[in-house]
Amino acid sequence: MHSTLEDVRLDSMQVKILPALQDNYMYLIVDSKTREAAVVDPVDPELVIKTVQEENVKLNKVLTTHHHWDHAGGNEKLVKLWTGELQVYGGDDRIGAMNHKVRQDDTFTIGNLNVRCLSTPCHTSGHICYHVTASNSHDPGAVFTGDTLFQGGCGRFFEGTPEEMYDALCAKLSALPDDTKVFCGHEYTLQNMSFARHVEPDNKCIQNRIEWAKLRRASKDPTVPSTIGEEKSWNPFMRVHETTVQQHAGGQTNPVITMEMLRKEKDNFKA
Ligand SMILES: [Zn+2]
Repeated sequence: MHSTLEDVRLDSMQVKILPALQDNYMYLIVDSKTREAAVVDPVDPELVIKTVQEENVKLNKVLTTHHHWDHAGGNEKLVKLWTGELQVYGGDDRIGAMNHKVRQDDTFTIGNLNVRCLSTPCHTSGHICYHVTASNSHDPGAVFTGDTLFQGGCGRFFEGTPEEMYDALCAKLSALPDDTKVFCGHEYTLQNMSFARHVEPDNKCIQNRIEWAKLRRASKDPTVPSTIGEEKSWNPFMRVHETTVQQHAGGQTNPVITMEMLRKEKDNFKA
């Protein structure tokens, strides 16, 4: 496995980080009160079932971020192997076994946890991010960002425009509370941060995170989660309003064009 299994305990929820394939992450979200659980992008159904049994939680929901095989490719098998009923959420008809199609601002619950759907088309046209919060606590909440927002980076624009990625990163995701934990779809932190450092060589937040991430990866520990506030401090794609980032993009003053130029540069960037 590319990373160790790790547990992130927040006030009212627990998030189990489950590595899959080369560098993908699946996540098991557990409501601490009811032990109800949902799994994000279960591409490796066997590991999901094993974990659910070990943790003795009540899995009844699948949250799919987008239709790409390395995220949605395990849905059908999980539904087949699972003895109980599974509600499979997603925002794209190309997602296997989907029985609950969602749109922007749709809500549902995992036990006592609230989930709000954010429509973030661009990497794929039906991409959804899931914002999970607890109603009665000071829990910071968590957002599952698939291939839209990565730590220090963002997904490729396969089915969308720079405007759409700008809306996803700089309007919708930036509007979440700064302490919201960010759980993304891949372990790409070191590669992304090396590009971030290229864009902003003097940004101390980037330098410090690289040192920290190198230590984590040396022992195969995951670098997720980060927070929305941290992403705003080091992720060039969330910083397209900043003068330093705009200057790197040839002295742009338009954040959307800056977004477009950064993505093009990153597509060909060798760390
Ligand atoms: Zn993808």
